[in-house]
Amino acid sequence: MTIIAGPVSVGMILRRIFSFAAFSIFLFLFIQVLATKETKNLSYVFYQEGTLPIIISVPHDGDLQIDNVAERNNTTGSVYFSKAQDTYTKQIALEISENLEKRTGKKPFLVIDLLSRKYMDANRNVSDAYEDSRVKKVYAQYNQNLTSAIEKVGKGNQTGVLVDLHGQSQLPEDLYIITLNGKSMEKSKEESLRQFLQSKGYVVSLSNPEKFEISGIIIDRFGKHRENGIDAFEIEVQKSIRYDKTRREKFVKDFSEALLFFTKTQ
Ligand SMILES: [Zn+2]
Repeated sequence: MTIIAGPVSVGMILRRIFSFAAFSIFLFLFIQVLATKETKNLSYVFYQEGTLPIIISVPHDGDLQIDNVAERNNTTGSVYFSKAQDTYTKQIALEISENLEKRTGKKPFLVIDLLSRKYMDANRNVSDAYEDSRVKKVYAQYNQNLTSAIEKVGKGNQTGVLVDLHGQSQLPEDLYIITLNGKSMEKSKEESLRQFLQSKGYVVSLSNPEKFEISGIIIDRFGKHRENGIDAFEIEVQKSIRYDKTRREKFVKDFSEALLFFTKTQ
């Protein structure tokens, strides 16, 4: 098919040039607005406000790098220094959130560190958490998000719970539950949780190796023994569950159920 163009006037050409120029300017401004928005929203902590009294904290699965900041180098000589990533814990938390939403129509709170542990460890005291002051605001934001979540759940809420989700690879048990020897959560609740998870086929330890007890800063900062705290426990998920798709999916389902059972919201 041949398209025969009609006579083109100088006015039409000028209008076309003008509309092309206007479109280019519009596109340029639009990209600028998007870029500005993106920069303003750039965050190293993911926060989801929930409607369930369940808060899931994931401090060790960040993989974002930060320009011109040197990696941590254990300048304080901490015995519990680590830059290891708790791989798949971020995915597990997001899948638990989806699972809980499917079951109840409500979401848990999520506080997930996205910055690599090479630069910041949210589960350490401020003196060991970061070495470059430019990372201070990421650490502060993580703690601020946890504080806000606990305020929303309600201080002293008897059905509220904070889960600090971790992964470990050295010890044999499937799951370790850490409560600072009953300080951050009632022993009876810890025992109910253990029994529930054991009934689903997991080997669960409450033996609380000293390594986890001493480094459990998040549950120590926000647990029920604190004036503004709630029941809080740390859970360490063995590598064999995290890296195996079938076992991981089963854990997501079982642990979501455990959390609802635990908070008596089902
Ligand atoms: Zn960890």
